[in-house]
Amino acid sequence: MSSPVYVANCIFCRIAHRKAPSTSVYETKYSYAFLDISPLSEGHTLVVPKTHAEFLHELSDEYLADLLPVAKKIAVGTKAEHYNILQNNGKEAHQAVGHVHIHVIPKPNQEEGLGIKWPAK
Ligand code: AMP
Repeated sequence: MSSPVYVANCIFCRIAHRKAPSTSVYETKYSYAFLDISPLSEGHTLVVPKTHAEFLHELSDEYLADLLPVAKKIAVGTKAEHYNILQNNGKEAHQAVGHVHIHVIPKPNQEEGLGIKWPAK
């Protein structure tokens, strides 16, 4: 594992290294998943690498390879039948936070919701 890059003024670096608050959902050696502060749906989760990279193409393959399986695990864990996986690169592509992140946006059943109390076990 290459040494993680930590950028002190990056909010997602701080969150991934537990130096800023978040609601934790799941983590691995390479990735950290937490609830979006301004969710588009119940359970909207962000998955970030535990090393700094602004864009997907700047991330090393060992970190990159972990992100999608984590996103899948979270999507499956919500038990939502339908969901979006989104990943934005650059301002023109609506990236607001300059640290790679994958959005997992479940589409809960309108009446029942997801029925999950976060952080999920
Ligand atoms: P993007 O437009 O793809 O860069 O999305 C950035 C996402 O990060 C948005 O959905 C924000 O609501 C979310 N966000 C920004 N700051 C925080 C934070 N401190 N904790 C959790 N989510 C955040």
